[in-house]
Amino acid sequence: MATLLIMLKRFSLLLLLTLTSLQSYAQVDLKNEQKIQPKQLKQLKQQSSEQNRQEKKLTVGITLQPYYSYVKAVVGDQVNVLPLVDEGFNPHNYQPQANDLRRLNLMDVIVVNAIGHDDFALKVIKAADRNNLIIIKANKDVPLLPAMGQSVGNGVVNPHTFVGVATTIQKVYSIANEMSKIDPDNAKLYRANARAYALKFRKMKHKAMMNLSDINTAGMKVATTHNAYGYILQEFGVQVSAVIEPAHGVEPSASQLQETIEKIKESGIDVLFYELNMPNRYVDTIEKETGIKLYRFSHMTHGAYRADKVEVEMRQNLNMLVEAMKFTAAQKGGV
Ligand SMILES: [Zn+2]
Repeated sequence: MATLLIMLKRFSLLLLLTLTSLQSYAQVDLKNEQKIQPKQLKQLKQQSSEQNRQEKKLTVGITLQPYYSYVKAVVGDQVNVLPLVDEGFNPHNYQPQANDLRRLNLMDVIVVNAIGHDDFALKVIKAADRNNLIIIKANKDVPLLPAMGQSVGNGVVNPHTFVGVATTIQKVYSIANEMSKIDPDNAKLYRANARAYALKFRKMKHKAMMNLSDINTAGMKVATTHNAYGYILQEFGVQVSAVIEPAHGVEPSASQLQETIEKIKESGIDVLFYELNMPNRYVDTIEKETGIKLYRFSHMTHGAYRADKVEVEMRQNLNMLVEAMKFTAAQKGGV
């Protein structure tokens, strides 16, 4: 009995030293150590090993909502996925906050867009100055399009690869490959998850293409308010003739708006894609002045972090695109 009591005492002390989150619980047990039942000990031990298991989990950070969907799809529950920024932020004007740095310090890995749109995250990463943080650049193998807009400088790329289907698939494979190197025990799972996720998007795209197989949309001309849809439109052979924002996230001035209206009238632009989640009141003026047909797209970076976000919003965008292409074909008598 005496040996058992010594063992109990030792175990309680050990708990006190090692389990910070269970500290108060262990102290109570130390005071009442004689009363500890073997059942309680077993329970504590289980809690301890569960906590250790959780502590061993990698924490992978993300910067923009679509990356939450991608990483969740690849890793499932094998790692913690931690957004750098609280949900509800607008990535077109976000400035880093102290909390972001605190969260960055909890991350082992962070997945970044790194071609624009998450520059705020790159600033936080720089400020953190952590040489043990692994950075996955999701776009590293994606062929990039140049940015469009009257005031866009040379060499600037279109950062919205998360609005394209093929680009999404490529990024998910890149994330799975990098995660497989970081966590080789789960490499097989990550690659299988990536393949299953990619298949969903290939099917989605195939379905949209099949819907368009009987119509002729050659010569379809579109304008977009925001330069976010170049990748998805390119996959369907649709050229963007004009981007209304003079630069990324910048509203056009009155004179720039007038120029756009003239351009739409002169060049016979068929439809205008505008943004679901961004303020663009000037769209009504364009509609009124030109009679152009409007379609809404999702930029996929607004609202809550959800695992199914990209899937849901990609499907909506594809449906919208099919509708717009059918409308254009009907206008041109190509049905
Ligand atoms: Zn954007």
